[in-house]
Amino acid sequence: TPLIGVLALQGDVREHTAGLRAAGADVLPVRRVSELDRVDGIVIPGGESTAMSRLLGVFDLFDPLRARLRDGLPAYGSCAGMIMLASAILDTRADARHLDALDITVRRNAFGRQVESFETDLEFRGITDVADAAPMRAVFIRAPWVESVGENVDVLATVPQGPAAGRVVAVRQANVLATSFHPEVTGDHRVHGYFVDMVRAA
Ligand code: GLN
Repeated sequence: TPLIGVLALQGDVREHTAGLRAAGADVLPVRRVSELDRVDGIVIPGGESTAMSRLLGVFDLFDPLRARLRDGLPAYGSCAGMIMLASAILDTRADARHLDALDITVRRNAFGRQVESFETDLEFRGITDVADAAPMRAVFIRAPWVESVGENVDVLATVPQGPAAGRVVAVRQANVLATSFHPEVTGDHRVHGYFVDMVRAA
């Protein structure tokens, strides 16, 4: 059974822990390097990316986490976690740092005031494209979108309709997965299952 860490400095740690357990993984909350060293994969939860950036520094985890990601540690970030994994961020604070593990440019709080928080059903490549699969309910909470992707990044989901139709909201590059939305709050554990499979395959 893979041991998957959930970065536990800030954000919806409990929901990701439940999702990963439901998907068959053992879970370790990660607040120190000795815990980071033990895990086979890591989830960076939703929350607030500038606070998370600051706390990674306070807990002396920023450089060790970046080093493990460079070594190929599988990672999944939702929402603020996607922002943390990105290689470039638009509309963030000048002093916010990010982990540069995924070749995407992300726009923070991209969906704007009218639709800051919304839900939609969407198709997720590798999950909803198998026989008899239901579409995925996606919950967006002051979410980022992916403004552009590098050539080695696969787009797994886009917004199907409405003012943000076509916007990229789930991506994967090798061992790194990110979603703008929060599968950890819906009780649908298929994204966590997808990530657990990535960790097993790594
Ligand atoms: N708006 C938050 C940020 O910029 C992300 C919101 C979330 O994780 N639900 O970090």
